[in-house]
Amino acid sequence: MNFLQLENKKILIFGIANKKSVAFHIAKVLKDEGAEIICSVYSREHAETVEKHFPGTPVYICDVSDDIQMEKTASLIKENHKNIYGIVHSIAFANYSAGVRPFHETVKSDFLQAVDISCFSFIRIAGLYKSCMDSDGSIITISISSTKMAAPSYGYMAPVKAALDSSVCFLAKSLSEDSRIRVNAIGASPLKTSASAGIPGYIEPYLFAEKATLRKQALKTEEVANTAAFLLSPKSSGINAQTIIVDAGMAVNFFDKEIVSKTVK
Ligand code: NAD
Repeated sequence: MNFLQLENKKILIFGIANKKSVAFHIAKVLKDEGAEIICSVYSREHAETVEKHFPGTPVYICDVSDDIQMEKTASLIKENHKNIYGIVHSIAFANYSAGVRPFHETVKSDFLQAVDISCFSFIRIAGLYKSCMDSDGSIITISISSTKMAAPSYGYMAPVKAALDSSVCFLAKSLSEDSRIRVNAIGASPLKTSASAGIPGYIEPYLFAEKATLRKQALKTEEVANTAAFLLSPKSSGINAQTIIVDAGMAVNFFDKEIVSKTVK
């Protein structure tokens, strides 16, 4: 048996879009560990990515902003798969309908849509799938390494992720009333995925973040995926209601010598 003890455990994964997706890397690690994966994706095209790279994996299509689709998909998945051990929520969406504006000019409909898709979907998924989960299962979501770092390029998504981090605590508490299902988040620093590439003005902050890591090497998506596998596994049984930061030490490196010397001449 492997250290993580994930062999034959069923893990439901939300959020594979392409080979760069965080969820894709998580699926790969889980498969390598012998877990059985089930996928729920946004579109037919994303389903084809799953079918191509993880042949034989059951895959469902669901837009999480549509509650009727959420309910229908949950009924179908529950009918077809019992004893789900883990759930991965790796979904976010932000529309900048008026372009990137100063934060105080955030468009209300954009903000509410982002909260719905990136945060409320996590709460709804926990509520819909709890009844088909193992009572000692694990649910994870992907957050960001700091919701208080006011990076202008990230627009209004940090406050949305703050709501997600808080939901982790409230879900961990409410699920603990009659189960031992754990709920945690991974707070990842900037990665190279299609979602991040879509954030206007992302590339310079991404390159800066690389310089700000203690090792001067950008965080790899596989490193987030490895942490995800650990948090899903019984080996992390003592960890609950946490956002585990995976940032290669970036948060402590504000006074990095190289960065300071380039800025202050
Ligand atoms: P991605 O675009 O590959 O994944 C985002 C997923 O959300 C896609 O699969 C997309 O289809 C799905 N999605 C969006 N709207 C949906 C809807 N209405 N219904 C169903 N699915 C929907 O990008 P990613 O970088 O892998 O993002 C995954 C998670 O990681 C997100 O929560 C993101 O905020 C988080 N994250 C990313 C970074 C980064 O730098 N890329 C850093 C920290 C955290």
